Amino acid sequence: MGTTILVVEDEVKIRELLRSYFEREGFDVVSTGSGADAIGLAQTAAPDLVILDLRLPDVRGESVASEIRRFSGVPVLMLTAKAAEQDRIHGLELGADDYVTKPFSPRELVLRAKAILRRGQSAGAGGGPALFGGGEVVIDEERRVVSVRGEPVELTPTEWGVLVALTRTPGRVYSRYELINRVRGYEFEGYERTIDSHVKNLRRKIERDPRNPRVIETVLGVGYRLGLPPDA
Ligand code: CA
Repeated sequence: MGTTILVVEDEVKIRELLRSYFEREGFDVVSTGSGADAIGLAQTAAPDLVILDLRLPDVRGESVASEIRRFSGVPVLMLTAKAAEQDRIHGLELGADDYVTKPFSPRELVLRAKAILRRGQSAGAGGGPALFGGGEVVIDEERRVVSVRGEPVELTPTEWGVLVALTRTPGRVYSRYELINRVRGYEFEGYERTIDSHVKNLRRKIERDPRNPRVIETVLGVGYRLGLPPDA
């Protein structure tokens, strides 16, 4: 099975340029110029990475990213003419894994894409189960099963989403806002504090001592992070 890249870009020249670069590197490429089609393709083509232009004629790229986040943890690399720091931060909060501004070098873009795919592999996306903390926590995304200290644990979709989001990059701090967007999508009308109650429930299920959490650590004034290192 090859690695599939979904390229979402309405400018045909750029789209075809990306296709040829990625195909030359041995990737399978699925592409579209429509944001609406992209959401469907993210489900049916099960891509390993999405390259997403933010400026699309039908649906805003930001909305496409949020919609994809509702059902998938696939890494997203955003492509845009917007270079402002604020847009960059907003994109990352929407669940993008990286951000490339136009004009860009296709060669560099391919390198960035490969780096994201490597990160994803180390966090266990795709392949087999991902282990953390010497096997204390085992996450099998494909079977949607999490085991803690050898025992399977039942999680709600939101709890599952929070835990998986945190394991994407162990040790990285995720803000409450970012977690909400990764779990429920941009349209979710919730308060950032609702994440706290999900984390509280999650800790009750997976922590040895929920009042002294080690798996999901609180970073005061910022958010949460996975306290366990990934197993090699
Ligand atoms: Ca465009």
